[in-house]
Order: sequence, then structure tokens, then C-alpha cells
Amino acid sequence: MRQSALFAKTQKQLPKDETSTNARLLLRAGFVHKEMAGVYSFLPLGLRVLNNIANIIREEMFAIGGQEVFLPSLNPKQNWQQTGRWETLDDLFRFTSLYTKTDYALAGTHEEIIVPLVQRFVSSYKELPVAIFQIQNKFRDEKRAKSGLLRGREFLMKDLYSFHANEQDLDRYYQVVKESYDRIFKKAGVEAVYTFASGGTFSKYSHEFQVLTQAGEDTVHVCGACALAVNEEILREQPGCPQCGNKNLRREKAIEVGNIFKLKTKYSSAFQLTYKDERGENKEVIMGCYGIGLNRLMGTIVETSHDKRGIIWPESVAPFLVHLLQISDRPKEAEAAYEQLQNAGIEVLYDDREEVRAGEKFAEADLLGIPWRVVISDKALAQENVEVKERKSERVELVKLQNITDFLRATNS
Ligand code: ATP
Ligand code: MG
Repeated sequence: MRQSALFAKTQKQLPKDETSTNARLLLRAGFVHKEMAGVYSFLPLGLRVLNNIANIIREEMFAIGGQEVFLPSLNPKQNWQQTGRWETLDDLFRFTSLYTKTDYALAGTHEEIIVPLVQRFVSSYKELPVAIFQIQNKFRDEKRAKSGLLRGREFLMKDLYSFHANEQDLDRYYQVVKESYDRIFKKAGVEAVYTFASGGTFSKYSHEFQVLTQAGEDTVHVCGACALAVNEEILREQPGCPQCGNKNLRREKAIEVGNIFKLKTKYSSAFQLTYKDERGENKEVIMGCYGIGLNRLMGTIVETSHDKRGIIWPESVAPFLVHLLQISDRPKEAEAAYEQLQNAGIEVLYDDREEVRAGEKFAEADLLGIPWRVVISDKALAQENVEVKERKSERVELVKLQNITDFLRATNS
């Protein structure tokens, strides 16, 4: 893509109330725009990152047998009354249509829709287990929305729900999802610590995936012996690590990027979701639910991967692999390089702007954080070279113009 055509540009003026590092960098780089507290528009570069994250997650969900659906945000009040959460969920957006006077909820989670839906279609042990997921916007009336993309009032979530004939099968699948989450976070370039959290009334523990950083709102206690962590709530109830008993834990700030939870029969009971077992007896379906916040994950990547000049995207989620900067007197050579890279299927943002000075282009490239910077300069061109630099390194390499595609392909494999 040509940078001259990009409608959303970098910003110098930032909203005064925006104090979080992730939002400040993403706003400056023109990846997102703030509409109000906790609500952001995703601009072309930001959406490319969000889509890359979604694709990493979607691929993994398919690999563990997930079937993708898309459920409505606008929900009937009745479903939320049936679970009691119309009254008890304090971050639930509720409103009345001024026209029909009907009450609605804007969903912040989807048990109230998915469980009755599965109840319509599944009735026998032969149809279990089943795992259903979506990547969809959630709405929550968060009291504080001050951490940029980490806590929004409208945000994208991957929510997976699994349905089982018995608890052993839920336990088996819980482990499958756990390992899938490990792969997702690793691919996305963050280190997530598996953390014991409260399981509510239905299970001893649930688990959170916590990324250690000062920017986090959560506090976890990390065990040096087994590399797991415990959240505050669990530690109050039982001192020490539930895994290995170690009592010498390290206190850290962290961001919860995902969690997994055994719901057991909490929602199946509310909606009479039962199945007939081998003997024809009616049994309640056993459930698990598993979430990942996509905006929050994107914000977390920025919090853990940046320097004073800007963002440093991991290749797996970067909006483009290559940022091509034309600063020479020979735009034709730059055009040819752009074409060469594009023909090779390499994703390039091409800074073809004529009115922008070289220094400014360099500063913007650092702010945007695209993994590879390729500069077409007069000095390098004199030797038929281009200047190649990795965003995360200080070293500039000279590469023959005709070899640039092979060079980048080799680094990308
Ligand atoms: P928190 O304790 O941070 O409020 P939660 O326990 O309410 O999170 P879940 O309801 O389990 O979170 O949602 C699943 C995932 O969705 C979380 O692990 C997190 O990554 C993400 N998430 C939750 N709330 C928000 C929010 N307000 N903005 C962005 N992402 C969120
Ligand atoms: Mg919450």
C-alpha cells in the first residue's frame, strides 16, 4: 500500500485524558481513533493488526475442533432474566427502545444466547462434545475505562463454549484449550503466565493467562519453581502455589489476556440443556467457557514491545512486513523495488510521499513499528544497494537491490 494514499495519518495532538502507553502510541501512529472513553475506531493500519490477531486465534480454534458462529449483540431481556443476570451483572448494558418500549441487553458475554441455541439442536450423547466459538464485539459498562485498549466499553472478544456429556470430558478439553492458548499467545509475541484464579462456586479454580508488565491492572504472584502464578483472591484463601506448594512467590503487575473457566451445569440448568445418554436417561450438559480479548491482546503487545521512538510489532501481527522508504532522487528505482516486493507476495507499506523530509519518514517508520525498514537512498543506490534495518535492531545492512526479495523472504521463513 502507498502511504500517500493512507487517509489516516500520524497524530501529534493527543486527547488529554489518554494516559496509557498503548493508546498513546496507537493514537499517535494513526492505528486507532478515540471516540470516547473506552471506545475506539480501528483505522486501516490498526485493523490489519487486529485481523492478524483474529486469524492467529481463528486458526487455533479450528485446530481444536471449534465451529465458528456469529451471535447478536442485541439480546432479549427474557434470556438474561432466565439466568438472573439481568439484575446481577453490574456491567451489563440495559436499555429500553424509545419506540416499542421493549427492554434489551447489549451482550457482554454470550452464555444467554449460545445455551438456548445449543438446546435447540443437541439432544443426544451422540452429538457431544461440541465446541462453538465466535470473534465478536462485546459491550460492558466498565466503571473505569482508563487503560486504552486494555479495558474498553466496546471490544472484540473471542469466546469459545464447549459442551460435554461428563466432567472427565470437560477436563480433557480444558487441557486442549489451555495448550491452544499457549500457542496463540506465543505466536502473537507475548509471554502469558498460566495463573490460578477463583473458579466461582462450580469449580475449585479457573485459569487466567497473565502477561507480566507494570501497565497491568491485575496483581499476580509468580512461582519461581514451577513458573505458574496465583491471583490475589486465591492467595488470600491459601498461601502458596497450588501447583507445587512453594510459598516464596514474587508479586507482579499483569494484564489478563485470556481466561478459561469450567461452568459445569450453571447455564445448562438455567435453560434445561439436557441430553439423552446411552440408556436414554436425561442428563444435564457440562460446559466450559474460554475467552480472549483481542483489543486487550493488541494493547498488551504494544505495552510489552515498544521503545521511546514507537511500537515494535512482532512479524506475526505487524500491519505490513516491510516499510519501504523512498528518499532518493530516483523514484523510479523505488517504484521498481515496490513492484518487485509486491510481486513476491511480501506485504509492503511504501512511503512514496514526495513532500515529506527523510528525517520525518524515519521517525514515522519507527513510530509505526513495521518489522523491516528498506530505504532507497542515493548513497546506497550508487552501489546498486538498498539499506535494510530491522525495527528491533540498530544495525543497517546493505543489500543488493536485485536481491532484496530473496533477502526478506529468507528472514521471514
Ligand atoms: P477483567 O477481570 O479484566 O474485567 P473479566 O474477568 O471480566 O476480565 P472475561 O469476562 O472472562 O474477563 O472476558 C474474557 C477476556 O476478555 C478477558 O480475559 C480479557 O482478555 C477480555 N476483556 C474482558 N473485559 C474487557 C474489557 N473491558 N476490554 C477489553 N478486553 C476485555
Ligand atoms: Mg470484567
